[in-house]
Amino acid sequence: MNLLTNKKIAIVGGGPGGLTLARLLQMKGAHVKVYERDPNKNARQQGATLDLHEESGLKALREAGLMAAFRANYRPGAEKLRILDKNAVILAEDSPKTEEEIDRPEIDRGPLQEILLDSLLPGTVVWNSHFVSLSPDRDGWKLEFKNGPAVLADIVIAADGARSGIRPYITPVKAFYSGITVVEGSVYDSATASPKVHALLDGGKIFAMGDERTLVVSSKGDGSLVFYTGCKTDEHWIRAAGIDFSDKAQVLAWFKKTYSGWAPVWEELFENASIPFVCRPLYSMPLDQTWEALPNLTMLGDAAHLMPPFAGEGVNMAMLDALELSQCLTGGNFSDGRSAIAAYEEQMRARASAAAKESLANSDVLHSPEAIPFMLRFVN
Ligand SMILES: Cc1cc2nc3c(=O)[nH]c(=O)nc-3n(C[C@H](O)[C@H](O)[C@H](O)COP(=O)(O)OP(=O)(O)OC[C@H]3O[C@@H](n4cnc5c(N)ncnc54)[C@H](O)[C@@H]3O)c2cc1C
Repeated sequence: MNLLTNKKIAIVGGGPGGLTLARLLQMKGAHVKVYERDPNKNARQQGATLDLHEESGLKALREAGLMAAFRANYRPGAEKLRILDKNAVILAEDSPKTEEEIDRPEIDRGPLQEILLDSLLPGTVVWNSHFVSLSPDRDGWKLEFKNGPAVLADIVIAADGARSGIRPYITPVKAFYSGITVVEGSVYDSATASPKVHALLDGGKIFAMGDERTLVVSSKGDGSLVFYTGCKTDEHWIRAAGIDFSDKAQVLAWFKKTYSGWAPVWEELFENASIPFVCRPLYSMPLDQTWEALPNLTMLGDAAHLMPPFAGEGVNMAMLDALELSQCLTGGNFSDGRSAIAAYEEQMRARASAAAKESLANSDVLHSPEAIPFMLRFVN
């Protein structure tokens, strides 16, 4: 039985997880709306390039009938990974030779979002819908927004990311701080603005490590690059440090001091980045988290299983969640919403917990003296 027949589905959050779910449910004829906080699709600069994995992100895209669109937009060559030390010496490189050898193809977030949005029925995404609260209404839910009318839905799915406002209606379990904070920046037209790092990148990704710190740099298809530092800090370092992240000079001074043993070439990134920089303490959901399934409310992606980005699984997990949830809700294997959601959540928690464990372990080793030998083993 398709449990969504004659039901109104509200997905809150139009990131990769929410949009993939909307597409998959619409393919089964479901009545779906996506309520997204951003005022429109161009409201935000989309971050670094993502590698999609065969068994998760690509599997979901395939089921969504979007592989042709993916192939037209992915970036062969962007999977090139270079391992550098703090002096910008290239220690190793992982670079498939032919398109057939690429097992984890890369796509920028912007084109991925575009592909998913284009696949939806017109009017599916209700932009400028900042969710604020949820209350029971007969057998369903009433959703309230900061800047628009309330809506009613039979089933609500939280796809609203790391600081989900819906998650507390499902479980009180909270994320814990991973010990690492990143400072993220973008450089437009990197060939001109930061030519030395641009040359080191060579259209791919850099993982630079040293002194228990990391610097990840990623090229993008529009000629820009995105970078993020990784340092062990106190959870509330941002407040204590008193840095104004919209002041380039202050962020550069912080970088020079914190990465004092690193070669000056890296400063090019900070000198030429657009402002503001974004500072992100990285969190993870507990690996053993659990909760009782509800009949008409669930969550996916970062809302359900936030993890640090050091296993490259976040987007892939969010898209696989969407596929598995859509199958549980529409595949005819369950007689009621609660058992469908319970089955989805059980497999999602187990899978995400394994990915988060790997990500936390990688995070620890990459910010330790073992970082370079670890990455060299990984590449080789
Ligand atoms: C620095 C960094 C690097 C990363 N690198 C990678 C990587 O290389 N590979 C990878 O797989 N993953 C990576 N990740 C993780 C990845 O970004 C996330 O796991 C992924 O985006 C989760 O998708 P999602 O759809 O669950 O949530 P999100 O992408 O966070 O989308 C949530 C959506 O909900 C909206 N929203 C939030 N609150 C509300 C509200 N109240 N009302 C309405 N809408 C709301 C947001 O605007 C957003 O559009 C990285 C993360 C970081 C921080």
